[in-house]
Amino acid sequence: MTDPLPRNKCIVSGCENHKHEGLFVGDLCGPCFQMLTSGDPNYGNTFIHELQARVKMLERALEAYERERNRYRHANPEYTGAYFLSGGHGTFDSNCLPQYVRIVPAYGCAWEQVYEKTDRTISYEGS
Ligand SMILES: [Zn+2]
Repeated sequence: MTDPLPRNKCIVSGCENHKHEGLFVGDLCGPCFQMLTSGDPNYGNTFIHELQARVKMLERALEAYERERNRYRHANPEYTGAYFLSGGHGTFDSNCLPQYVRIVPAYGCAWEQVYEKTDRTISYEGS
């Protein structure tokens, strides 16, 4: 019969360190012991770092998805009810952006608001 909790493995769920691989404190491997007792998840090199990297990757993917969702919402106001650009005027810069844009608050609205370019930009990682 096999032991459901092998005695030579770190008892922290997800950790794959075994006693023959390095320092242990009781049933905890050194990195898990330091991480749990210090409260610092950046201690050592454990499965937590893989999870942190995955969370960061998923957060970047979520940011990209949110940007695309917003673009869709504002490009399809007849379906989403979101505000949308109805045009621009004034001088145009080297990126073909106008000094002023007109924004309609909702599809079917009979008025629009004029916004002016500020030259403040938002950059996205990797773009
Ligand atoms: Zn461990």
